[in-house]
Amino acid sequence: MTGRTRMGEDASVTVRRDLVVQPADSPLRVAIVGAGPAGIYAAQALAEQDAVPVAVDIIDRLPTPFGLVRYGIAPDHLKMRGLRSTLQRALEHPRVRFLGNVEVGVALPLAQLRAHVDAVIYAYGAADAGRLGIEGEELPGSLTALDLVSWYCGHPDADRATVEEALSHARSVAVIGVGNVALDVARVLARAPEELQPTEMPQHVLEALADAPVEQVTVVGRRGPAMASFSTPELRELGQLRSAVVLVDPRDLELVGAAEERAAAESAVARNLAVLRSWVEHEPSPGTVRLNLRFRWRPVRILGPHRVRAVELERTASDADGQTVGTGELELLPADLVVQSIGYRGTSLPGLPVDERTGTVAHTAGRVLRDGRPSPGEYVAGWIKRGPTGVVGTNKHDAKETVSSLLEDAAAGALGSRRQPEDLLAVLMRQGLHPVLLEDWRAIDAAEEALGATHGRDRTTLHDRNALLAAARLAAASREEA
Ligand code: NAP
Repeated sequence: MTGRTRMGEDASVTVRRDLVVQPADSPLRVAIVGAGPAGIYAAQALAEQDAVPVAVDIIDRLPTPFGLVRYGIAPDHLKMRGLRSTLQRALEHPRVRFLGNVEVGVALPLAQLRAHVDAVIYAYGAADAGRLGIEGEELPGSLTALDLVSWYCGHPDADRATVEEALSHARSVAVIGVGNVALDVARVLARAPEELQPTEMPQHVLEALADAPVEQVTVVGRRGPAMASFSTPELRELGQLRSAVVLVDPRDLELVGAAEERAAAESAVARNLAVLRSWVEHEPSPGTVRLNLRFRWRPVRILGPHRVRAVELERTASDADGQTVGTGELELLPADLVVQSIGYRGTSLPGLPVDERTGTVAHTAGRVLRDGRPSPGEYVAGWIKRGPTGVVGTNKHDAKETVSSLLEDAAAGALGSRRQPEDLLAVLMRQGLHPVLLEDWRAIDAAEEALGATHGRDRTTLHDRNALLAAARLAAASREEA
């Protein structure tokens, strides 16, 4: 999720016109599950090709579109979050319809959905957090990055009470993992309140962060700095915080094992090391947050007894096979809040073969495999296809691959037959469901701007599902009246 997305790129896919059999008056009906970047890029790739007439429904369990662009990209990354406008344009395409607040697999069973469309693309991401599985991680004061990110982005499912209770004690924070999400969390916690004012964070989030007693944030990597998965712009940004000083122990930067070769071979690694080395002379300064970056330490257990007090770390080394192993050297890192930021995992969807081990769906070029064979009319895109990796723009190529497979199969007559073709919106309405449409989303958007204005901000995220739905319903009611 950096500025490295290639938004201007052509999303269209190439289809051999001589193979097209779909008549214009009966377009290919495609449902996409998940209105995050992967789903929207897939919708865009389908809508912008002109070889096969299509009608795309993009369904989301939330009343709002944009997935991680709204609920994952850090609120202080204003430029990246601006990607929303581009994604919204894709939703405005006449061949695309947004159906929000509909949970596929729950309100709309998969078998029912599949009966009404020619093809389904699952693009619902990876909505679960990885966990260390160590002693003490259930204590108050132990959170996952997902808990914290959902909360500060204003996700309707965020557990406000738990996060805010944990933050109110958070003098010393340990963040486990050295990916970009870990840096997002560390940065947001270390920022001065006035730096967060221009964001869209809900008002209660701004207030809780301003009140949190954070004095120290320690980001802990289990391998050396050459193996860290954060990217250089995100790392550099830590050095630009108004009221935090980054501290690095030069011993942690020594290159051991394969690290030297890696640093020589990969310019991104060399750049990260140069940034880290530029900080070794830093000294703590009174009144600023100490932002420590530590490498080659792995968490062994979290100590209580009643709430988090410390995390026990063990020094690691590489064994002869290059594997990370504990050395037996232990250290206690005092911490009132421990945030595990060790990656995301795809969740199950009733009726879809999600591999429990990987949290992904087996596929070939985006075609879902059931019992090792492509299942007609079923496709995957995004994190549920390839796992939680890459930047937002990665999803564009990923979605294109999936859409190419789908259109190839359509042309070859390999989608299987639709049993009860019927308009999905009509099906949902008959069941008493009232999906949030794009015009309803526009009303939510306007309500967030209006709420922001009351606080002297550009916009403020509505975090409460009922408030989101109330804004949407108001729009639907005035449409009906007109
Ligand atoms: P990530 O990049 O996979 O990082 C996960 C981190 O957790 C790694 O440092 C990993 O260390 C560590 N880890 C995993 N298991 C561990 C364990 N048992 N004990 C200790 N550490 C463990 O995942 P992420 O940070 O959640 O990011 C997900 C994706 O979103 C990435 O592609 C990321 O680049 C992207 N993203 C980008 C941005 C941005 O561009 N601004 C912002 C947020 C997210 P090992 O390497 O040793 O396994």
